[in-house]
Amino acid sequence: MPAIAQVEPMTMARALRGPFDYRLPEELRGGAVDVGSMLVVPFGRREVLGVVVGLAESSEVAAEKLLVPLRALELGVPADLVALAEWIATEYCSTIARALSLVLPPGAARRLSGRKRRDVARPRHLSVGSRSPHPPALTADQEAVLGSLAAPLMQRRAEQRLLHGVTGSGKTEIYLRAAAIALEQGRGAIVLVPEIALTPQIVGRFIERFGDTVAVLHSRLRPSERYAEWRRLRAGEARVCVGPRSAVFAPIDDLGLIVVDEEHDASYKHEGDPRYDARDVAAERASRCGSLLLLGSATPRPESAHRLPRSTLPRRVDGRPLPDVEVLDTRGVAPGLHPATAQALAEVRRARGKAIVLLNRRGWSNFLSCRSCGRVWSCPQCDVALVLHRGGGYVACHHCGHREPAPARCGECSSTSVARHGAGTERLQHELASVLDDGGFPVFRLDADAVAAGGDGAVAGLVAPAGDCGAGALLRRFEQAESGALIGTQMVAKGHDFPDVTLGVVLDADATLRFPDFRAEERTFALIAQLAGRVGRGGDGRVLVQTIAPQARAIVHAARHDSDGFLRGELERRQALGYPPFSHLIRIVCAAAESEPARAAAGALRECLSASLPASDASVLGPATLFRLRGRERQVLIVKAAERGVAVGAVGEAVRRVTGAERKSAGRYAGVNFSVDVDPQ
Ligand code: ADP
Ligand code: ZN
Ligand code: ZN
Repeated sequence: MPAIAQVEPMTMARALRGPFDYRLPEELRGGAVDVGSMLVVPFGRREVLGVVVGLAESSEVAAEKLLVPLRALELGVPADLVALAEWIATEYCSTIARALSLVLPPGAARRLSGRKRRDVARPRHLSVGSRSPHPPALTADQEAVLGSLAAPLMQRRAEQRLLHGVTGSGKTEIYLRAAAIALEQGRGAIVLVPEIALTPQIVGRFIERFGDTVAVLHSRLRPSERYAEWRRLRAGEARVCVGPRSAVFAPIDDLGLIVVDEEHDASYKHEGDPRYDARDVAAERASRCGSLLLLGSATPRPESAHRLPRSTLPRRVDGRPLPDVEVLDTRGVAPGLHPATAQALAEVRRARGKAIVLLNRRGWSNFLSCRSCGRVWSCPQCDVALVLHRGGGYVACHHCGHREPAPARCGECSSTSVARHGAGTERLQHELASVLDDGGFPVFRLDADAVAAGGDGAVAGLVAPAGDCGAGALLRRFEQAESGALIGTQMVAKGHDFPDVTLGVVLDADATLRFPDFRAEERTFALIAQLAGRVGRGGDGRVLVQTIAPQARAIVHAARHDSDGFLRGELERRQALGYPPFSHLIRIVCAAAESEPARAAAGALRECLSASLPASDASVLGPATLFRLRGRERQVLIVKAAERGVAVGAVGEAVRRVTGAERKSAGRYAGVNFSVDVDPQ
């Protein structure tokens, strides 16, 4: 009977190398503790939470030196999630403890104190939902797609499939039917969505179809509610989990299906260490569990289109055509609304219809400058300009969150003449409301600021019901309004579905193209195509795209609803430049208070990598200087490699070497932070 538990303490230090052996007391042997069990263990002078990653008969540590766990927690993590966490730690150059923290029950660390929890109540709004067990008859297109998914589902084959279907083509119905097949087989399902608040409809449809078998995990739940949902999944009471990227770690036994809805969405990439991509984690988990991975989108990523077998739904279920898209050239036109856009909005108001206007920039104006001395207000922590938020009376850094009162005068020359440059969503809302809102045409604003302010983004002064706040409330108010406009950042182009929107407008459509990022074209295409997908669902629709780059490939193809053409051209371009999916990228950022240590560390890393990576197979770009962020000077290296595993291994090794975790000679780069991003987004 194994007497030794190999325990990974949940501490976040990079230099720590576990696991550590503990001697199990009699009462914890014989099955009480297994891989995935959570123990409270003495560690140094502290008591920490530890996860059992292995069991053994004996230890290399002398018996009298072995410590004994203080106690075992009631619920552990399934063993297959421990293995998945180990994979993540390696794949994303992180540590086991950090990766394990992703798969622990919500609030696990806090429960260390051993306090009994009183309220494990289910989230209120989730237990309602009447079941409607009679799904609609499938269209012929849907029938064909589901037919091709049934075989792998029934035969428990690990397969991956891209479901490429235009908006409104009935993809969600396919997810529901595939989940039903998995459930019939006694298996479970995970459905990943970009953001619950922006896509309430899909959650509602799953609850309506499957009732209490559905658990929802998302960040807006209270901790006790999240824990209650996690427990229902762990106990097998719930077999379907719907949630954002972290739901890929839902503790579901015998998983038959993982769906990733809107698979192109950037929110699937986690921006904290480990920088995992939920789509790749889903693929790994599906292949380990013998489950079907189904990635759905109207605008799939070039990577997915290139790698995966594809099923298509080329038509909307209701047979309506996609809206006409007109590209408006704004070169030489006064900034703001193009005359054609202004006219179209006025027509929607006259007809008491609804419009959505997308401007991917928050705030009132992009930056402020002094008219007399030229000073630009910039962030003290980052080398970027501060954005004016007029309603709040402050200027803010959109990178670090720094805020200060909006200036009335220049601190350098005391001039009171402050120029405001550019326009963001706040100003656009104000301007549109002053032109359009005659009392019956409210102009709602949906962006991160409006959501943070509790969804009170309407100039019309409507009041949200008590307790009902955020993006969901805003979207509901727009839905319930008889007519009006919804303006905002890319949030307005996400998965919601309003039948009565007849006009869509994209302002400054090339703004996303100007990002120095090889995904800029893909993002721009998806943004326009997704917005077009929200328009004309109930009838006629029209989309206007304002741009100074009317010939840009992403814009031309989006205007034609030609995602195949876009993907073809984009894959050619990526191949020519050696970008993913034709290579793998790893981004390493060295950050420090001073630029010199950051530069030295990046140089040392580069040397290590050049020595260890085969030159035929990989190249190292940089170091290059990034703008100062949160008071840290930054240097970046990009590794571009054909063999992912080799490159990940070499980078992990190089970072360990330079940080001195391998040797005891730490200190040389002690003030430098290293962040490794495999498959940066
Ligand atoms: P997508 O996820 O591709 O945007 P949905 O699955 O949301 O599309 O379908 C769009 C609309 O069509 C929804 O209102 C849905 O209820 C409806 N729908 C889907 N499939 C069918 C069908 N076979 N028959 C009738 N209505 C359907
Ligand atoms: Zn000045
Ligand atoms: Zn800043």
